[in-house]
Amino acid sequence: MTVRIGVLTSGGDAQGMNAAVRAVVRAGIQAGAEVFGIHEGWQGAVDGGDQIRRLEWDDVGNVLARGGTVIGTARCAAFRERDGRKRAALNLITHGIDRIIVIGGDGSLTGTDRLREEWPAFVAELADAGEITAEQAERHAQLVIAGLVGSIDNDMVGTDMTIGTDSALHRITEAIDAISSTAASHQRSFVVEVMGRHCGYLAVMSAIAGAADYVLIPESPPADDWKQHMSHVLRQSRRAGRRTSIVVIAEGTQDRQGNPITPEDVRVVLADEMGEDARVTILGHVQRGGTPSAYDRWMATMLGHAAVGEVLRGDREPQLVAVRGNRPTFMPLMEAVAATRRVASLIEEGRYDEAMAARGRSFVQMTQAFHQLSEARPDAEPLEDCRQIGVLHCGGLAPGMNATAAAVIRLGIDRGHEMFGVHGGFPGLIDGDIRRLGWGDVEGWTASGGANLGTRRTIPTEEDLYALSRSIETSGLDALIIIGGFNAYRALTLIHAERKRFPALRLPIVVVPCSIDNNLPGLQMAVGADTALNVAVSSVDLIKMSASAAKRAFVVETMGRHCGFLTLTTGVAVGAERVYLHEDGITIADLKTDIDAMVEGFRSGRSFYLAIRNEEASPFYTTDLITRMFEAEGRGEFSVRGSVLGHVQQGGAPSPFDRINGVRLASQAMQWVTEQLASGADQHVFVTPDGMRDVRDLDELVDWQARRPLEQWWLDLKPVLHDLTRTPGVASAPGSLTGRGARPTTMER
Ligand code: ADP
Repeated sequence: MTVRIGVLTSGGDAQGMNAAVRAVVRAGIQAGAEVFGIHEGWQGAVDGGDQIRRLEWDDVGNVLARGGTVIGTARCAAFRERDGRKRAALNLITHGIDRIIVIGGDGSLTGTDRLREEWPAFVAELADAGEITAEQAERHAQLVIAGLVGSIDNDMVGTDMTIGTDSALHRITEAIDAISSTAASHQRSFVVEVMGRHCGYLAVMSAIAGAADYVLIPESPPADDWKQHMSHVLRQSRRAGRRTSIVVIAEGTQDRQGNPITPEDVRVVLADEMGEDARVTILGHVQRGGTPSAYDRWMATMLGHAAVGEVLRGDREPQLVAVRGNRPTFMPLMEAVAATRRVASLIEEGRYDEAMAARGRSFVQMTQAFHQLSEARPDAEPLEDCRQIGVLHCGGLAPGMNATAAAVIRLGIDRGHEMFGVHGGFPGLIDGDIRRLGWGDVEGWTASGGANLGTRRTIPTEEDLYALSRSIETSGLDALIIIGGFNAYRALTLIHAERKRFPALRLPIVVVPCSIDNNLPGLQMAVGADTALNVAVSSVDLIKMSASAAKRAFVVETMGRHCGFLTLTTGVAVGAERVYLHEDGITIADLKTDIDAMVEGFRSGRSFYLAIRNEEASPFYTTDLITRMFEAEGRGEFSVRGSVLGHVQQGGAPSPFDRINGVRLASQAMQWVTEQLASGADQHVFVTPDGMRDVRDLDELVDWQARRPLEQWWLDLKPVLHDLTRTPGVASAPGSLTGRGARPTTMER
């Protein structure tokens, strides 16, 4: 008998839940299981009947871009009672379901685990009472479960991110950007309340992304003199030229005595201490709404796919399907829940340091980075033995370059350095186009696209090095921070190789990774890549909508040069049928297989087909040629359009993640430069999230000819894409759930 998996969303909804449900349904079918949607959370299982319905491949078409959850969610009081859970067990067994994938918060995961524990007792009782047969009792003796965390708060211990958090950050950051522009017009102050009863993640990260002035969170209640401290910080930044003050507060914030601090309390402080007529904005449910971000789509897809593998194995204690370092990881479900609940108890008991530590290293670091940035002393006097640090861009434009540069500059000033912006990359440095930048000069940079310092792809030639070193000498720069892409790494290598001939090049230099292509060594996400991905995903959403009236195939071209990151992740996030990557190349045999499948798909009633091609996937089979081949073979049965997304991918305001990532990497770079200058060292390094790497390590990490890292983590998403877009039972990608067959014969609607 076929294995039956039940999938449900429970508790508060979160953007990206649909991507997880779609992945569970399709990966389940692909692996030969039947998948049932349990509608309206656990209430659906308690009610039974057609609240538990089989979901077919096409039932989860076109759900990736939708917020909320298409199978409904609820809080179910009956499921908290033993009787309610027993009824749920009966209904599940009646439908032949004994594997559950639940997507919800810690409450939903706990409830699901209780059902699992009680299941054998329920089975025995139901069999004794004649409500199920002995055969049913035997066949469904155990319940196997796996949990995915859907929660915008990012409050689960054991996973880097929960489904919905990144989208909520998008909503909050959009709101803070909007508030900032009106606030600046009137020189007004705003207090913005964001969600997070026990968790300050959204507050801290949105304060960084929105370049707010102050943040208040539950895990780290402010010191008793917080009112004076806040007023001091806000006054200082106003004096340095900031036209607004923005305080972000998490809804669960308390003082050290356990008394709630409300947005109204903050408003009163601003009025009393600063004479400010501050406005309060409570963002509320806006944060849960709207289309899921690109990350919430591909991440939830990856986890849903992994969860199916987990429940089909079913040979270990229940697991939380979590994400760490952009890969699915597993940890005992109830351990994760217990650790999460412990954080809330630690806060209640006033053990704040432990509560912060339990949130993980990165959260602690980012909270510190925010304090450093927001409290950076705008009027800091340069140190007596002050050093001069140059900041420049090198490489293609990437959203987030400004946020990164602004962070470097403010952190540098705070440490007593003199900071210099080099305009126009290396040519600008050679020409001496260098200006000192003050704290207020970078106001407003965090949220802005483009690169205010200007960026050029040019790297110095050997002939340029003399002029370059002269310029470094005459301008008196003591260190360089290069924020840029692949060419920045090439320039670093060249400078390092020639440092013996040109002693002026013996100064500390650090490269901070920024590129929409995401082709940089030693890290998973370069600044800019997430924004480009979001732009590509929302563009393809529009393209899909435009095609909904006719039978149409699209070939969409993304950027990325020789790196397929943008192409593949966009494909996963929008549900493309096929992606063409430079890493794989394109052959005529591939195209024939794809075209046969596409034509067959349209004949059997489908109305849409989407292929995404990396701009340099093949020098021969161009986007235009593939479009024409599709059109020719369609013989008028459907129309085909090519669409080159082009430079929109480099534009736009940086995503919250790119701003946050920029700040994180900038603060590491500044810390390192300060240490180098203090110790008189002159290393040449590049930043990775795990620390600095020496320029000499690059040869081990980089394929210089292909201009990409030798190892590319995101290629793991290939089998996920294959499993979710091909005909059940005939997937072929290595690492896929089935690993059988080869021919794609169907497509997403
Ligand atoms: P979340 O899953 O978002 O944390 P809740 O805590 O409200 O949201 O839980 C959602 C649902 O999960 C509850 O309405 C209930 O049906 C079920 N649930 C939560 N906690 C338990 C529990 N301890 N025992 C049984 N069911 C529970």
